[in-house]
Amino acid sequence: MRLLSGKEVADAKLNGIKIECESFVKEMGYAPQLAVILVGENPASQSYVKSKKKACIRLGFAHKDYLLPETTTEKKLLELIDELNQDESVHGILVQMPLPAAIDEQKVIEAIHPDKDVDGFHPINVGRLLAGLDCFVSCTPNGVMSILDYYNIETQGKHAVIIGRSNIVGKPMASLLIQKGRDATVTICHSRTKNLKEITKTADIIIAAIGKADFVTSDMIKEGTVIIDVGINRVADSTRKRGYRVVGDVNFDDCSSKAESITPVPGGVGLMTIAMLMENTMKSAKQHSKKGK
Ligand code: NAD
Repeated sequence: MRLLSGKEVADAKLNGIKIECESFVKEMGYAPQLAVILVGENPASQSYVKSKKKACIRLGFAHKDYLLPETTTEKKLLELIDELNQDESVHGILVQMPLPAAIDEQKVIEAIHPDKDVDGFHPINVGRLLAGLDCFVSCTPNGVMSILDYYNIETQGKHAVIIGRSNIVGKPMASLLIQKGRDATVTICHSRTKNLKEITKTADIIIAAIGKADFVTSDMIKEGTVIIDVGINRVADSTRKRGYRVVGDVNFDDCSSKAESITPVPGGVGLMTIAMLMENTMKSAKQHSKKGK
């Protein structure tokens, strides 16, 4: 079994972006800037926002953080997004999800200008991705592709089974894998899929994005499968100081002896998501600088 280290791939990616950023700053006299908005005090969201800020600092990006109270109205949030859309010094806008129930998430996603939508969630970017056009690609599935590329895992003609059909992982993952040049045969499974095990047993590549701890077990896979575990689940663990540990959607110990290669959790796809966000922000800064000339 080969361990697919997201840390190794993310580090390589971030080191490359740092060099790109240095030459961008030299040429343009300013740094790429990411604006991150967090509404409320969800602990997982707070830690994601902190990691994004840390990545900006590591790369020499400028960043603006907006930590807004849970009571923030949709109107106020939309006004802030509009301001950031107009602000020429901001190249990427990210609103940390989930948002409080009183705010319409889709409205917020669509309020971000597609040219600054570094999360790749705006319907324009989602549609362009499906059509095979240049766009901001959703960071997590794009991170999965980077892992496959880094480890030279061939997708052409392979049967890729994606478990999960969310807009942020499952669907864009399928859009990427079916493109010309990637050429996978893709099956998307979800909570209403019948005979899931029969399908996953035919997979050359399994991408698990379910949100259920240790869901994929060795009886669901064939010998020699490549397993990409997108899941991030907190399970209670009294032996840990913080009272929980993080596990994926794949039962790692059970599957690792049968899999050809597998991503660990933590240390897998999660680290890639931030690296791809930084890549998108760098790309946006370059695109905006060209428009300004
Ligand atoms: P989601 O809740 O939006 O979607 C879960 C999907 O799993 C749904 O499409 C559902 O149909 C499917 N599903 C649920 N039960 C199933 C079952 N029994 N059989 C088959 N399919 C089933 O979740 P999401 O936002 O796509 O996230 C999925 C997981 O990935 C979560 O653990 C999340 O924390 C993690 N995640 C990680 C990253 C990262 O950076 N690594 C990014 C996003 C999400």
